[in-house]
Amino acid sequence: MVQRDELLAYLAEILNVRAFADYAPNGLQVEGRADIKKIVTGVTACQALVDAAAERKADALLVHHGYFWKGEDACIVGMKKQRLGALLAADINLLAYHLPLDAHPELGNNTQLAKLLGLQQEGVFGSETGIPIGQYGRLTQILSAEAFGKLLTRKLDRKPLHIAGASGDIHTVAWCTGAAQSYLEQAAALGVDAFVTGEISEQTVHVARELGLHFFSAGHHATERGGVQALGTHLAAHFGLAVEFVDIDNPV
Ligand SMILES: [Zn+2]
Repeated sequence: MVQRDELLAYLAEILNVRAFADYAPNGLQVEGRADIKKIVTGVTACQALVDAAAERKADALLVHHGYFWKGEDACIVGMKKQRLGALLAADINLLAYHLPLDAHPELGNNTQLAKLLGLQQEGVFGSETGIPIGQYGRLTQILSAEAFGKLLTRKLDRKPLHIAGASGDIHTVAWCTGAAQSYLEQAAALGVDAFVTGEISEQTVHVARELGLHFFSAGHHATERGGVQALGTHLAAHFGLAVEFVDIDNPV
């Protein structure tokens, strides 16, 4: 068991939370009970995940995508009332870590994606928020674009959308989990054969074709399952907690 405040202080420290100018608060977003024995982790604090945490009698729900995003309506009505009502009724703490969990050099989404795909990281890029979140490097073996697409399908359990680039084979790769399609030009400037992210926009297709690198939209949810799971495993070992990852399917 750990006290909530001790857990929060530990997470703020290891995730370097203060260094990020983020789009949502990082840390405790909704307060629940003071003692924590069981944590449910997940990608997004949707109603289904809140309900799953309540069913499992979790003391805390730890997510990558929490609430209170910049620019959203602040009123607690409708869907937000339902979600917050369920958390408060079950006295569950909601802990959310967005950019700090993308960027962490060991536990972060991008490092976890690299491990999953066999990518050796050589550097970082994409610093719109002060700290670079994207990574680049190379595959341990050179693959055809088709074989790399199959690798993504197998490892992420989801077929990527592929916009073909100029090179026949893929060796050097840049990647950034989530919705980082706007990093495509920064990735191309690195001179890599391919860029992998979660989402794609209409204009991404033309930009990729004209810049000549392979673009893979591999799923926002699919590419961001790694960080919160790695963090959960770390917390289970460090504090002796029961931690369970609950995957709420999302095709995007
Ligand atoms: Zn995301």
